[in-house]
Amino acid sequence: MTPGGGGRVVVVGGGLAGLSCAFELSDRGVPVLLLEAGDVVGGRTASWAKDGMAVESGLHRFLGFFSALPRLLERAGVDLGAMVCWEDEIEIRLPDGGPSGVLGMAPLHRPLRTLAGVLANNRLLTPLDKLKLARFMAAGLRDYVRRPDELDRRSVTGYAKAHGVSDRAVHNLLVPLTAGLFFLPPERFSAAIFFGLLAPGVPRLHQMRLGAYMGGMTEVMCAPIARGIEARGGEVRTGVEVDELVVRDGRVEAVVAGGQTIGAGHVVVATSIEPAQRLLRPAFEDHPWFAPMLSMGTTPSVTVQLELDRPSMDVDRTTFGPGTALACFAEQCRTTFRHARGRLSIILTPPERFLAMEPDEVLAVVIEDAGRLGLELEGHVTDFRVVAHPHDFHCLEPGHLGLRPDQETPVAGLSLAGDYTHQRFMASMEGAVISGQRAAELAAAAHAHGRRAN
Ligand SMILES: Cc1cc2nc3c(=O)[nH]c(=O)nc-3n(C[C@H](O)[C@H](O)[C@H](O)COP(=O)(O)OP(=O)(O)OC[C@H]3O[C@@H](n4cnc5c(N)ncnc54)[C@H](O)[C@@H]3O)c2cc1C
Repeated sequence: MTPGGGGRVVVVGGGLAGLSCAFELSDRGVPVLLLEAGDVVGGRTASWAKDGMAVESGLHRFLGFFSALPRLLERAGVDLGAMVCWEDEIEIRLPDGGPSGVLGMAPLHRPLRTLAGVLANNRLLTPLDKLKLARFMAAGLRDYVRRPDELDRRSVTGYAKAHGVSDRAVHNLLVPLTAGLFFLPPERFSAAIFFGLLAPGVPRLHQMRLGAYMGGMTEVMCAPIARGIEARGGEVRTGVEVDELVVRDGRVEAVVAGGQTIGAGHVVVATSIEPAQRLLRPAFEDHPWFAPMLSMGTTPSVTVQLELDRPSMDVDRTTFGPGTALACFAEQCRTTFRHARGRLSIILTPPERFLAMEPDEVLAVVIEDAGRLGLELEGHVTDFRVVAHPHDFHCLEPGHLGLRPDQETPVAGLSLAGDYTHQRFMASMEGAVISGQRAAELAAAAHAHGRRAN
């Protein structure tokens, strides 16, 4: 081992946080080695073949008001216009013949569709429901700015009820916006995290759009970023799981992977919350700065991805099925998985129920609930895979907002990155990229300092 790794920065984890961190460092000429445990880069935005079937980590949507992620992609030479197909609308379908509605999601690009979506759909939400929801949204965004900790003691349902939002509006709109996007029902979802997810989009509402990937996310997004790192002199190794951080005299100076010690001038732990806790706990269990993040719980996610002998829906569109196990789903045979005749990706709720099931049991529930939503899947499924993340996000229940750590730690030679770390965009692709860029700033400063000291 070279002491201090010759000043090299070691980034642990090749999801968007680690990739953006390593990209920034290599772009500044800082020597960087990224170690990713999986066979491909991308983490929760990965795509790969699972027992012969093309799968993705889970249904993802690219939002038009992101800015750090598109800038990173541009610098890595990715053509956003080719990577994303702007669908710009969502559908909410109620089961058992209930109403459904299509809502435009692009005020600038599809203004009439967007306005009509708000004014129409009165069977889904009455005009009074919409008025109360608007007041609830305005109050929540204000409270998120003024008193986030107080808001974090309440659930979305509790806060909505206190603002006169009807049960129908909770079920038909707030369930899609909570269980649909982050798998947890509104009665378990922190009101502060909910409004924190919406808040960064408000000043950029005119830029709102909703895009589907035109190919697997590793292929069209993450691998090109990794190639950008390598083209700038950095190194990316996959299939290397870091088992341990080496701490000497209060400084992190190496990592251990597969029995090999790899020296580092600085280490950025860019994993999701649970592996970060596993790496940090042995050395920092008693360190008060780490106590809040080490106490954080996690939220699982489970998705099921179906190959079909025909498209399940007429258009590829993000759809929510409140009141069923199908939290959020989309046909993808015209966008992400164009090799397939039909291809349905579904995020399931509540995730804990499905974690415990065998794949065939998951499929049976999905076929039944899909039928209640008007999707005839029986006899049309040619193959399927269940993709689960037992520890996906940090816990989104009340009481967790203040536990998120900064990227800067009080330990020499150590920074953190990842969607659970503190930044405005919460648990999202944009948030992961921003956290990686902040960690890169810290690592680059440490690198420059180390060079001056030598
Ligand atoms: C089903 C689903 C749907 C989603 N939909 C959206 C969406 O529509 N829009 C959106 O913006 N966000 C969405 N997200 C969230 C988004 O994917 C994440 O916020 C983001 O990708 C997190 O990136 P990350 O780099 O912080 O973590 P990760 O992507 O989890 O990356 C961490 C990496 O670290 C690696 N690792 C872990 N331990 C080690 C170790 N010991 N050694 C080496 N490597 C290690 C892991 O293998 C992984 O590759 C969704 C997430 C899921 C699961």
